[in-house]
Amino acid sequence: MALFCTKKAAITAATAVLALALSACGGSGGGSSSSEGTGASAPYTVASNVSLTGSPTFDKIKSAGKVRIGVKQDQPGLGFMDAATGQYSGFDIEIAKWTAASLGLSADKIEFKPIPSANRESAIQNGDIDFYVGTYSITDSRKKQVDFAGPYFITGQGLLVKKSNTTINSEKDLAGKTVCSATGSTPLQNIQKNFPQTQTRPFDTYSQCVDALKNGQVDAVTTDQAILLGYAAQDPDNLKVVGQPFTTEKYGVGLAKGDTALRKFINDMFTNGKDTWQKIYDSTLGKSGTKVQQPAVDNY
Ligand code: GLU
Repeated sequence: MALFCTKKAAITAATAVLALALSACGGSGGGSSSSEGTGASAPYTVASNVSLTGSPTFDKIKSAGKVRIGVKQDQPGLGFMDAATGQYSGFDIEIAKWTAASLGLSADKIEFKPIPSANRESAIQNGDIDFYVGTYSITDSRKKQVDFAGPYFITGQGLLVKKSNTTINSEKDLAGKTVCSATGSTPLQNIQKNFPQTQTRPFDTYSQCVDALKNGQVDAVTTDQAILLGYAAQDPDNLKVVGQPFTTEKYGVGLAKGDTALRKFINDMFTNGKDTWQKIYDSTLGKSGTKVQQPAVDNY
């Protein structure tokens, strides 16, 4: 269907599979807690004798014998912690575990640290985490504070509304409406800059936004469509995603600015690990069977 192979259509395809994927795996499959080892079925193995010189982050990880990875914990399908079991699951979590394994750390040596959007740069800069894997868009302004490996996934900004909503069908219907997004996120900045007739209601996390939508405080939640499809899949009787993605969000692994050795190491992992990427995708977001292409890394 070459006619439909626009960039937008590709992004839609990349994210539209999430709802099905979530219903297929119940939103909690595929992950393991930080106390489990890398499972036999994992499409990556824990490397031994890792050779990575000139990376202050890796030196720290080696001497600590563990890796602290910043993640999201309330984004089903991407980065989600099951409150009952403490287990983390999702596409981002698997990318994080693959990265740790490539650095020689098994899953039981990972400490997942949930960090909301607004605190990512400071957590990396302060050394609270070794790197961050959580729907983190690569942007020029963030690159002034941190570095990014990747991109490892591409999605775009979308809209989540109540199922009963008939007035918001796309971003063109946002004038006079109130939308919720996360503080410090690119979707919030986009609305504030480019949608002057739209009110914004920021919260720290998207799950707080979803609560605000359900109890009528806001008309819509806006963030990456990949994230919104996860919430809609959890509550299909009350929530729906409308419209098409209207930005391009490229997810990167956030790491300390200037740690070029680590950035290149992770980029090489993505470039040389296409089979692994595909297996991770297929076992998480791609469970519906829809195929998407791994994006090429940007070795800036
Ligand atoms: N990808 C966007 C961002 O990095 C929105 C999702 C998020 O806040 O994590 O700002």
